[in-house]
Amino acid sequence: MNRELAKVGELLHCARRVLFITGAGVSAESQIPTFRGATAAFADGMTEDGMPFEEALGAETFNLNPALSWKYLALLELSIRGKLPNAAHEVMAALQSPRRDVFIATQNIDELHQRAGSRIVFELHGNLRRIICTRCDYNVHLETYEALAKLPRCPRCDAHLRPDVVLYGETLPLEVLDAFYQEQTKGFDLVFSVGTTSLFPYVVEPVMAAVRQGVPVVEINPETTPISSLADFRFAAPAGQTLRNMVRP
Ligand code: NAD
Ligand code: ZN
Repeated sequence: MNRELAKVGELLHCARRVLFITGAGVSAESQIPTFRGATAAFADGMTEDGMPFEEALGAETFNLNPALSWKYLALLELSIRGKLPNAAHEVMAALQSPRRDVFIATQNIDELHQRAGSRIVFELHGNLRRIICTRCDYNVHLETYEALAKLPRCPRCDAHLRPDVVLYGETLPLEVLDAFYQEQTKGFDLVFSVGTTSLFPYVVEPVMAAVRQGVPVVEINPETTPISSLADFRFAAPAGQTLRNMVRP
């Protein structure tokens, strides 16, 4: 383990373009529950309204019954409120330098990468703190939802507001995907997958591309995932501690 850590540390030291693909596991050490952790809180993924969590947070439910979706969006917000970046976010941000670009493609909606100082963050699933109008271009960044009505409406046009996140059943933000693809075409020297289980193509494809191009792939996740067998280096340990040990002089 220590030799492997040192080896990846060396690769990081020399790398000019590093990609971190991150998921809920990266924020676990900030005491934000992972998706599975969060759904466990809803008794096996069911909400008290008798529908699966994913359905309550689905585009269809939002359109038919926005108050119901808002109830669970508010719970999600509560789970990230006041939470701070942890060592994993901090190490990724500290790796940025004039000679090294660090790109973060995250499924997280908690904004902790930016808070830690990461400058290039592709928010694939949006951002829970950004509130947008469903009709006009009104938008606002909120630290907390405390002052929001249960079913908030646009101060300009009175349409329903919503967080700027990708609800289940919605497509990913095109401009974000485009910007991420642009960087993928330029290639990376090192690709990390940290704290993510999901099998979405936009997460797997950059890893597959790295494998095809002979670019080293590193996975940090206490559990095995579909990406594990593709990784050149695998650390079955928490992200923060592992990354910190990796960059330790
Ligand atoms: P997931 O819950 O399916 O997987 C989380 C992964 O993190 C698991 O593989 C787990 O083994 C790993 N993990 C747990 N603790 C870890 C640690 N300390 N260090 C490293 N890895 C650790 O989540 P997912 O597949 O990333 O995402 C599912 C969806 O849920 C995403 O679309 C995301 O938008 C949303 N989500 C976001 C947040 C957030 O913004 N923080 C939190 C929960 C869910
Ligand atoms: Zn509006």
